[in-house]
Amino acid sequence: MSTRYDLHAHTTASDGTFSPRELVELAKKNGLSGVAVCDHDTTDGIEEALEAGTQYGIEIVPGVEINTEYEGKEVHVLGYYFDRSSTVLQDLFLQLREERLTRMDRILQKLRTAGIQISEKDVLAEAKGASVGRPHIARVLVRMGYASDIRDAFDRWIGKGRPGYVERFKLHPGQAVRLIREAGGVPVIAHPGLVGKDAIVEELIPEGLLGLEALHPDHSPEERKRFSQMAENLGLIATGGSDFHGAGAEHRGDLGSVYVDEHVVEQLKKRSLMF
Ligand SMILES: [Zn+2]
Ligand SMILES: [Zn+2]
Repeated sequence: MSTRYDLHAHTTASDGTFSPRELVELAKKNGLSGVAVCDHDTTDGIEEALEAGTQYGIEIVPGVEINTEYEGKEVHVLGYYFDRSSTVLQDLFLQLREERLTRMDRILQKLRTAGIQISEKDVLAEAKGASVGRPHIARVLVRMGYASDIRDAFDRWIGKGRPGYVERFKLHPGQAVRLIREAGGVPVIAHPGLVGKDAIVEELIPEGLLGLEALHPDHSPEERKRFSQMAENLGLIATGGSDFHGAGAEHRGDLGSVYVDEHVVEQLKKRSLMF
């Protein structure tokens, strides 16, 4: 029987709607052998997933997804099998979390100027202790009737060029790659098709880049092929995952709709400094 691993999923520890335990239950239900928990800028969901994984017989691949920016493009860097207690990464997550809160305050201020009254409390309640992001603000906007759905909230209020838009703190992808490597992990560029700038892949190799997420729901069949080929040519691990966020408008793919074979997981383990 073939093994199926979905190497990109989010939980309530960041902007997913499934708790880590619920994610593992769904992985079981969907017939997966394993799932990678890759929350944005936090490892808080991993412990609960590991416990549930033991219970359900699902292998948990510990991961993270770090948001960075490169020449005006948003670049997400995935990290797998790193030392979760490493201060280099945890310090970065703390800094990013603080930046997120500052950014949220500025967004809410701008929305107030535009006549929309949303309190920080509303947004934090929506985030339920997870790292705060614009999707949480969007959900509050929808709930309060300022937008019809999440997409509308971005298009109308908080997307780029809209009244409540605030630039995010910029981290260079090279720095994220270096820190993941420093923590013993395997850095991988997430959904390069969404970055739209292939040159970045080669530029990040000297920084320690080891993989490329070739398979992603937002990649066309041609892109999947192209990035798989590119990974092979450059000696990078070609990974893949659904970028599952749960039910709702930010939902990308169903859990397990994009998957890789266990040999990809073995390659990740081989390149990690944790084993
Ligand atoms: Zn991403
Ligand atoms: Zn993601």
